[in-house]
Amino acid sequence: MSASSSETSFQPLVRLLGYAHYFFGGLLIITAALLGWQHYGMERVIDLTGDQFPVFIEDDRNSGGASVGSIERRGEDLIVHCHISRKIEWPYCKLGFSLLKGATGLDMSRFDYMTIEGRYAGPGTSRFALVLAQAEEGLTRLDQWQTYKINQIDALDLPPDGGELMVPLKWFGVAQWWKDMAKPALEHSAVNVDNVARTEVVISGGAKEGNHVFTLHRMRLHGKLVTLDALLSGLVTTWVLCAVGWLAILTLSLRSQLRYSRTAVALLRTVNKALELEARDLAGQAHIDPLTGVLNRQGLRAALMSTSSLLADPMTVIFIDIDHFKSINDTHGHDAGDEVLRQFAKVIASGIRSSDRLVRWGGEEFLIVCPMTNVYQGRILAENLRHALHRETWPVGLHVTASFGVAQHHERDEVGVVIKQADAELYRAKQGGRDRVCAYITADMSAYAETV
Ligand code: GH3
Ligand code: MG
Ligand code: MG
Repeated sequence: MSASSSETSFQPLVRLLGYAHYFFGGLLIITAALLGWQHYGMERVIDLTGDQFPVFIEDDRNSGGASVGSIERRGEDLIVHCHISRKIEWPYCKLGFSLLKGATGLDMSRFDYMTIEGRYAGPGTSRFALVLAQAEEGLTRLDQWQTYKINQIDALDLPPDGGELMVPLKWFGVAQWWKDMAKPALEHSAVNVDNVARTEVVISGGAKEGNHVFTLHRMRLHGKLVTLDALLSGLVTTWVLCAVGWLAILTLSLRSQLRYSRTAVALLRTVNKALELEARDLAGQAHIDPLTGVLNRQGLRAALMSTSSLLADPMTVIFIDIDHFKSINDTHGHDAGDEVLRQFAKVIASGIRSSDRLVRWGGEEFLIVCPMTNVYQGRILAENLRHALHRETWPVGLHVTASFGVAQHHERDEVGVVIKQADAELYRAKQGGRDRVCAYITADMSAYAETV
């Protein structure tokens, strides 16, 4: 019972393990799909020129210059008119977008690049700079512009065909002029764009005096919904957890199977033992006559083979046949006949030695094998048995007698020979009138018997 219960306990696990290759196959496909999607899609785009971020214009008049900037919206385009005046060394106009929502800027660290579409016309160079002003914890005070960390790229050029300029965020560096001015501590000296307060397009036209026009069609921030690093670490975690789970299930399943095998082996052992005992019983039964409980012919064969002392010379065989047994059956019924057979076997068995073997030869015929017994001794034994039958009280007042044939075994002969001789003597006893003993005694034997 315990075997079947552990069987049911591990089978669901085995079934689960059977699905493992589907599961891991599925996981592999999902992994590939996610990596592909991350690479080719999963875009996250923020339009900085959209309405959500307030736009502003600034010129160098705050810094003592005389450049004048103004802004105009035409359709989707933002047009900056900047009159550069070389009153100061680095004149400029700035088009800016405020990214602050309350006190929090825009986390650009999870974006990869910016794209800018627009045109620049004016004297001098058409290069411009981009600034990401970071509000950095422990450094920036929102009301003091000098404390914003200035991440900057200089000398950007818009493509002449009006196409997109792509600017990777990793190109940004902390502006040297800002470092010289703010002298930040070492931990604030590196680029950081996780809290950008504003982004600015800085127009200076190589400081060439005159009207500069910068038309900004669109400026966008591009990134991934999930960064490659985050995706990879998520996937690795998932794979590790699944592998650990699979190993745990495998271990549990193997353990239960082992427990089941052990129980099954123990059960088999018990069953084997029981079967062995039963087989031994059956083998014993095969050698015993069920009616009388004495040996049958098969039993005699086994006894002769296993007990060599049975053939120890001199050995004598006594063949016995109940007289007129048929008439007992006929007169008193088969059951009475059986009872007589049982009682007959008991009387004979109690009259022989333990070394002798009593065998039911068939029907109402019995055989006694008497080792270390010569024919004379055998004849005496037969006579004693015959008298014992006379003394016995039989069912339904019967008077049961038997005829005896006695013969001695000779070393040179097979056992079958002496049995035949005893049978012949039995026949003689029947012929002689029954209820008597006849023995096979040759002249040699009687001569020998007289000398002892
Ligand atoms: P005889 O004196 O010549 O031996 O005569 P008999 O009647 O003993 O011999 P016979 O061989 O003619 O009859 C033997 C009978 O024994 C016949 C058979 O029905 C009976 N018999 C054989 N085996 C059994 C048995 O197991 N039980 C019973 N009740 N009768 C049996
Ligand atoms: Mg007979
Ligand atoms: Mg008989």
